[in-house]
Amino acid sequence: MPRWCLLLVKCLGCAVIEDTWHYFLHRLLHHKRIYKYIHKVHHEFQAPFGMEAEYAHPLETLILGTGFFIGIMLLCDHVIFLWAWVTIRLMETIDVHSGYDIPLNPLNLIPFYAGSRHHDFHHMNFIGNYASTFTWWDRIFGTDSQFIAYNEKMKKVGKKTE
Ligand SMILES: [Zn+2]
Ligand SMILES: [Zn+2]
Repeated sequence: MPRWCLLLVKCLGCAVIEDTWHYFLHRLLHHKRIYKYIHKVHHEFQAPFGMEAEYAHPLETLILGTGFFIGIMLLCDHVIFLWAWVTIRLMETIDVHSGYDIPLNPLNLIPFYAGSRHHDFHHMNFIGNYASTFTWWDRIFGTDSQFIAYNEKMKKVGKKTE
């Protein structure tokens, strides 16, 4: 039985690998020449909900799902690790599609965790916020600029209505 701290570190490693894969391939799936053939299925819902997390074209499941397996191939040496990573990844993707930014959500304790507001905006806006779990790739490439502008605008609207 692997030590729990090793499990967590390896799961974090898998999440970083998956997030990187997801960012670039997801961004590619939004390319205007291929978007309508594959990724449009997942964007059928502008306001996502938990069960919609896995709702996608079979090719998308294959393309983006590959990122899930890369970490397993590189880091997995025990079946418990596989179960832990599957559980964490499913919890994460259902959380970001839930439409709820739940207070005291333990996932929000993870540094740079994107969360539901991040992915909710992606479904609402179609452009930007391409990463699955963390915010750094969108920050580095500036693909979160519309999300940041939107948040600023909402803050101003909120202040005016107070
Ligand atoms: Zn998308
Ligand atoms: Zn989605």
